Parts: sequence; structure tokens; C-alpha cells
Amino acid sequence: MRILISGASIAGPVLAYWLTRHGFSVTVVERAPALRKTGGHAVDLFRPAMNISEKMGVLPRVEERATGTNRMTLYREGARRPVRADLSKIFSATSDRHVEIMRDDLSEIYHNATRDDVEYVFGDSIAAISPDGEVRFENAAPRRFDLVVGADGLHSTVRRLVFGDESRFSAFIGAYLGVLTLPNTAGLDGELLIHVGVGRTAGMYGARHLGDARALFLFRSERELDYHYRDVPRQKELLRGAFDGMHADVDRWLDELDRTPAFYFDSITQLRMDTWSRGRVTLVGDAGYCPGPAVGGSTSLAVVGAYVLAGELARAGGDHERAFPAYERAMAEYVRGSRAVALSAAKTLIPTSRLGVSGLVQGARLISALPAGPSRALVRLTTKSARLYDSMTVDDYSPSPTASGGRAGLAGDPGGGLGSGIGVE
Ligand SMILES: Cc1cc2nc3c(=O)[nH]c(=O)nc-3n(C[C@H](O)[C@H](O)[C@H](O)COP(=O)(O)OP(=O)(O)OC[C@H]3O[C@@H](n4cnc5c(N)ncnc54)[C@H](O)[C@@H]3O)c2cc1C
Repeated sequence: MRILISGASIAGPVLAYWLTRHGFSVTVVERAPALRKTGGHAVDLFRPAMNISEKMGVLPRVEERATGTNRMTLYREGARRPVRADLSKIFSATSDRHVEIMRDDLSEIYHNATRDDVEYVFGDSIAAISPDGEVRFENAAPRRFDLVVGADGLHSTVRRLVFGDESRFSAFIGAYLGVLTLPNTAGLDGELLIHVGVGRTAGMYGARHLGDARALFLFRSERELDYHYRDVPRQKELLRGAFDGMHADVDRWLDELDRTPAFYFDSITQLRMDTWSRGRVTLVGDAGYCPGPAVGGSTSLAVVGAYVLAGELARAGGDHERAFPAYERAMAEYVRGSRAVALSAAKTLIPTSRLGVSGLVQGARLISALPAGPSRALVRLTTKSARLYDSMTVDDYSPSPTASGGRAGLAGDPGGGLGSGIGVE
């Protein structure tokens, strides 16, 4: 059985890994000409995603590439002295197994775990999908697949082709996000430097093994801003305007806008689809259920979603009419929960009032001052749904040993571990 996945970032390679382990034949098409190596931004793997990575045998590499960011220096806008906080205490309160890693490092690790068994096609994109599985590409000749999965991110092409325009499903949550790569002149090592004001937050972090650093900007806007997604100069201008006069550190980061080799700017939108499968096509990760970039822990959701989708397809013997609804049922509660987490995180990270700014600063101060136990309790009390990602439980879909490997098609009964109910939590 031949399955086409669009997108080779996180959800795509994890899905490809598990599908091949279950005996399916997999092709991944990725629009970028090669795997991205710029680092991207830092993402989080919480316990269920860590456990799935462990089952894939890649956990040592994931831990090796962790950013190592465990301290935070936090400035309230206008205040001279910062508050220093132990980030590891905050993370340990939200998850008892967590790693922060650069997205592109994680993507490379998952890609390496699949490259021998999966056909990767870079520099192409799906142009049309017909109901019988005939797929047309922008460059390659048409091919037929039994199933197609969109793992092509928040602005998914597969979703647009099958479900219609993105605007029908995305809700602007009143904030924008900018990221740029810049030299680590501050020599940040294991530290997040952050400035928080009413309606705007800017931070800079590095990673143990990266020569450069990232500056992250989050700001509120009641209405959607007027710019074209390809108009980078206008996006940079909007970012400069939103952070004007915040702090000399922030000015220095903004100065790098003219030189940065990598810049990202987007509204923070939440995808709200009641169902993300139609016919032979389904979606996984941000393409189907992004709760909002940078606020929702969506990387873990993408990893878990990919694992569950592959497992349900194996369990149903490749019958998508049974597998897709089962996959959606298994994920629905976590997808809904992630939206609430994202809204709450956005409120905390980009405070709407002076009270909110003070609350964030005082919270960080208190957590640092308290011993680990009480500080964990405090985070759990004050952070709504803080442990959603750790609480995700899914069945153990481990394939039978004979089903693993390659492009041989779905051989025999692929559903080893059926109904075992062993959680990966
Ligand atoms: C600035 C920023 C900060 C973030 N911070 C965090 C964080 O702190 N913690 C966290 O957990 N998550 C964070 N996220 C979210 C995280 O990056 C995503 O949840 C995660 O990468 C989802 O993986 P994915 O594979 O579903 O989609 P993506 O990583 O978006 O990958 C989609 C892939 O599809 C490819 N693609 C796109 N269109 C096509 C096409 N037409 N054809 C073929 N391929 C295509 C893209 O090139 C890309 O490789 C952040 C996101 C952003 C943007």
C-alpha cells in the first residue's frame, strides 16, 4: 500500500517512520530544496513525544542536541534590575520528561531515522489530488497513491486543496510572532534573556551547539495587520514599530534585521477544524490542528498525532475509512485541550496589562526563590492545563517484528500490539 506524505519537518518523518515500521510503502514530498539546516526556532518535546522518540531509537541524539537553556533573565519594561529564574524548575513543573531542541535539529534526527526506508522527494509540491488517489505535482510526473497525508504545516497546501481556503479554519488570536537569527554577541549559554512589557515580549536565546542565536518577538494587535506574506521589508517595519523604544537590548536585536540570514514573521493563528480527514486524505501535525505557533506545545502534538495515525492505519489493515475516524477520536481531546493551553500561554507570555506584566515577573521571582517542590506546585496552580501534554496517553501501536521495513507494501497482519492499551505516557 503506497502512502504519500507532504512535508518533511516533524510530523512527516515521524509518520513515515512508523508507517514503514508497520509495513507500508512511503513517499515524502517536501517543497524545500533540501532539509533545512538553519536551526529554525526552539521547540519542546514533552513526555509522550519523548517516549515515542525513545521507541524510535533516536532519544540519545535528541538529548545530545538539546538547547541546554535552563536559566532565564527577565526584565520588566522600564525596570532597571532583572529577575533571574531557574527555567528547569518551570519545565519540570509542566513535564517530568522534557527537552527543548531546535526544530531543524529534530527534523534532521527524524529524517535520518527514515531515509533508508522512505522515498524523499525534495523541491516539489502537490498540485492536485483526485478522489481516486491520482496526484499531480508541480514538477514531477503524476503518480497514484492509496492515501495522501498533509504534514505540510500551518499553511498546508494539502488542506487548501482538499478542504478549501485557510481563512475558513484559522482564528487570529490577537498576536504576532517574529524570529530572526543573529550573532550570539551576548555570549548566551544556557540562558534566555527576555524583556516583557504590556502587549509585547522580546527574548534572545542560543543553544549549546549553535554558533549563533535567535531573537523572538511576540506582540499583541487587536486587528490583523495589513501586509503581504511575501513582503519581508514591510514585516520588518511592523516589527520595528511594535518594539520601538522597549530597551537597548531589543534595539540591538532589531538592528540585526538588516543583516539576518533567517527571518520569520506570522500572525499567531489557531486552526479550528472539526474533522481533518476527507476521503483518502488526512492531515497531521500543524496542518490539521496547530493550536498557535510558539504558544501551544504543538511539536509534541505533531509527534503524537503521527504515531497514532500510523498505528490506527496498521490496526485497520490500511482501511482508511476505519483508521481516519479512529485517529481523530484518539486525538480530539488533546487537540481541543491544546487550543485552551495556547490561549492561556499567549495571555501569560504577552500580558495585556501592567498587572499581567507584574504577575509574570513576580511569578518568575517566586519560582526561583522556592525550593523545587513548592515551585512545581505553584506553576501547576497558576498555569492552566500546564500538564496537558504530559497527560496525553495513547495506545501502544508497536508493530510486530515481521512488519518492519521498507517499501515492500503492507505485509500480512501489521497490527502487532493491538489493543494492548500500553500508554506511551
Ligand atoms: C517561531 C515559532 C516558534 C515555535 N515555538 C515552539 C515551541 O516553543 N514549542 C513547540 O512545541 N512548538 C513551537 N513551534 C511550533 C512547531 O514549530 C510546530 O508545531 C512543529 O514544527 C510542527 O511540525 P509539522 O511537521 O506539523 O509542521 P512544520 O514544522 O511547519 O513543517 C511543515 C513542512 O512542510 C513543508 N511544506 C510546506 N508546504 C509544502 C508543500 N506545499 N509541499 C511540500 N512540503 C511543504 C515545509 O517546508 C516544512 O518542512 C513554533 C513555531 C514557530 C513558527
